[in-house]
Amino acid sequence: MKKYQCANCGVINKIPDDASLPESSCWSCSQPLNNARKPEGTGETSAAVGLIGGATLGASIGGPVGAIVGGILGALIGKEARGVG
Ligand SMILES: [Zn+2]
Repeated sequence: MKKYQCANCGVINKIPDDASLPESSCWSCSQPLNNARKPEGTGETSAAVGLIGGATLGASIGGPVGAIVGGILGALIGKEARGVG
């Protein structure tokens, strides 16, 4: 499955790898997805952002230990943000 963001309403649509965009339509607004674009950011990116963000947050709370805890927490948050599928 590939993810595309609807150009009309912005929701993420998942379409099979062998399906073409013009043949697919948005589940939310029913517009054809031929103008859809790939959503920005991969799972790896969001995990990295979570890691950096968590480390920054943790550092502001409790120094080096806070940074480590924050980093782990941030990585988990980033992983969750990736979504299912
Ligand atoms: Zn749509």
